Amino acid sequence: MRVFVPSETSESEKRVALIPESVKRLVGLGLEIVVESGAGAASYYLDDDYTAAGARISSDRAGEIAAADMVLRLSKPSMEEATAQKSGSWSVGFLDPFNEGELIGKLAESGVTAVSMEMIPRTTLAQKMDGLSSQANLAGYFAVLKAAERLNRILPMMMTPAGTISPARVFVIGVGVAGLQAIATAKRLGARVDAFDTRPVVEEQVKSLGAKFVKIDLGEVGQTDQGYAKELTEEQKEMQKAGMAKVCAQSDIVITTAKLFGRKAPMIVDERMLSGMKHGSVVVDLAVESGGNVEGSKLDEEVVTSNGVRILGIGKLECGVAAHASQMYSANLYNFIEHFWDAESKTIKSDLSDEILKGCVITQGGSIVHERFAK
Ligand code: NAD
Repeated sequence: MRVFVPSETSESEKRVALIPESVKRLVGLGLEIVVESGAGAASYYLDDDYTAAGARISSDRAGEIAAADMVLRLSKPSMEEATAQKSGSWSVGFLDPFNEGELIGKLAESGVTAVSMEMIPRTTLAQKMDGLSSQANLAGYFAVLKAAERLNRILPMMMTPAGTISPARVFVIGVGVAGLQAIATAKRLGARVDAFDTRPVVEEQVKSLGAKFVKIDLGEVGQTDQGYAKELTEEQKEMQKAGMAKVCAQSDIVITTAKLFGRKAPMIVDERMLSGMKHGSVVVDLAVESGGNVEGSKLDEEVVTSNGVRILGIGKLECGVAAHASQMYSANLYNFIEHFWDAESKTIKSDLSDEILKGCVITQGGSIVHERFAK
């Protein structure tokens, strides 16, 4: 089975789908790996490292895509590349199926088996393949470093002969994978951390990291069977804003990570809340790419409000630590392939009655097979 790893085409994308260590392990399983020349350069994985791991380096992108049995990417393929793959081959990456109906249609038409990494089920068995989590974890870490760098103050308490500096106050809104890592990182840097999530079940996790859970009584909220948040009613949204405004006003850094799977992110920090915040405080909006949690945040721009609050809306924050982000994603892909690898036939078993494949395979055999997208 021949696997091709093309370079990512978006300028802001610094990651690569496979790193040399995973190449070596896949070659050990019996796969043939081809890597586009320079694919790992932005995350400091060099062509020579791939060659040493057993890959072949190629500059013929179009030819390799057409010949590959499987193409591994971070992002979705272009329309042209989606139709250039041969029938029966695999296309794996973050395909954004909720917003990419036309692309999904093209992949189906081409007879490609398309795997959407964001659809890997949130189950114990599939945890090792969960790219959404491995990347969110690093984004949460890097969000704190970005905020600390833009804040004109330090995070830890410092007692010196010249006087005492109080710890910075960090407020994390949304305590999923990214939020938990943001809390842990801010705590490690010495900040005093508050956190809020609409799912009350996370209170214990927040406390176990030494942070304070902000209690806002929203009535019935709940979560989906995959552990995702449900959307709040308009009344609940107003109650949430009122409860959080006070915490925002006393925070130096606010990090928002609130997402609603497959839908636009909720607008949480509005202009009124921003206007109550301290001059020089920093807000990082991790949901900027899916609609934004913060009013006025712009993708990959720093917006300064009239009262001097800096809003950082950085997309794909995990690209700030691209070497490790690639390492984690690459391990997710290795685990996926290894889990379904049939050593005898040297192919991947594609039985859609398997719970993991049923969750993440979107197209196969000429049609859209995922129940959520098949119309
Ligand atoms: P996510 O990225 O979808 O959302 C981030 C957080 O924002 C969530 O905790 C969500 O509850 C919260 N949120 C949504 N709307 C909000 C609002 N209006 N105000 C405040 N917070 C709001 O979440 P995620 O990081 O993908 O994690 C979702 C869940 O899945 C979590 O419970 C996580 O622990 C769980 N999970 C399980 C597994 C597994 O079992 N293998 C793997 C990863 C995540």
